[in-house]
Amino acid sequence: MSADSKGRVLLVGAGPGDPELLTLKAARAIAAADVILVDDLVDRGTLAHARTDARVIDVGKRGGCQSTPQEFIERLLVREAQAGRVVVRLKGGDPFVFGRGGEERDALLAHGIEVEIIPGITSGMAAAAAIAVPLTDRRHAQGVIFVTGHGHDAEHEPDWELLARTGLTLVIYMGVARCAHTTARLIAGGLLPTTAAAVIQSATTAQQRSHVTTLGNLAADIVALGLGSPAILVIGDVVRAAQAVQENPGAFAAAQMRAG
Ligand code: SAH
Repeated sequence: MSADSKGRVLLVGAGPGDPELLTLKAARAIAAADVILVDDLVDRGTLAHARTDARVIDVGKRGGCQSTPQEFIERLLVREAQAGRVVVRLKGGDPFVFGRGGEERDALLAHGIEVEIIPGITSGMAAAAAIAVPLTDRRHAQGVIFVTGHGHDAEHEPDWELLARTGLTLVIYMGVARCAHTTARLIAGGLLPTTAAAVIQSATTAQQRSHVTTLGNLAADIVALGLGSPAILVIGDVVRAAQAVQENPGAFAAAQMRAG
């Protein structure tokens, strides 16, 4: 094999936005990298850990330019690792949550390249925390589902009616574009239009904007407020608790004492 023994790829989660939400392990990996491939959602503050001589390659998928095709990214990772370099693939949130990290890992393993995975705080969890939503507050939900707002084709679209019936908190990634469709299907599946819902845009960054509303009003509110991607939608009664915290902390504390 031509691969130098030192060459390897680290698939690293950069966290949701705030560079302080990077793990210590991620910071150490960035500091060790010869080459860093960065996604567009990754805050450039995370690169403060990089060596000054590290090569940083932007493989962002938005920002006005054409997206960098996934195959190109994978070829680049393979080439750099085979040249004996320590390559950090820095991905937003967690590399294995809706980030195509699994596909990148498979492509690297197919070329016999050593891959290390460093998890990150996924934006769904961070967005909920940013508005103080306890995703699995046992008084409201027995669990949480992380789901994408669109499948990679119509056939793989989530079964929203089925998800509605679980009674679990729903955390929806990439959900803004199809929000009207999604919320209508959740309501068709039995969720009440009055179910609490929130949208958090650019969570944990200086640009964070959030809004708490109901499932029935979520899509219209997003349009009216001009909210957009990147955003997380949270749907379920746990969101109501956060609203109480935000708007009337005293009332929430009293309700907790009564419940306790
Ligand atoms: N691997 C990432 C998700 C990549 S998919 C993670 O674990 O977070 C991209 C989607 O993630 C966006 O469309 C948006 O839904 C969500 N997202 C990423 N960063 C976000 C942020 N700071 N605030 C809100 N949503 C975010």
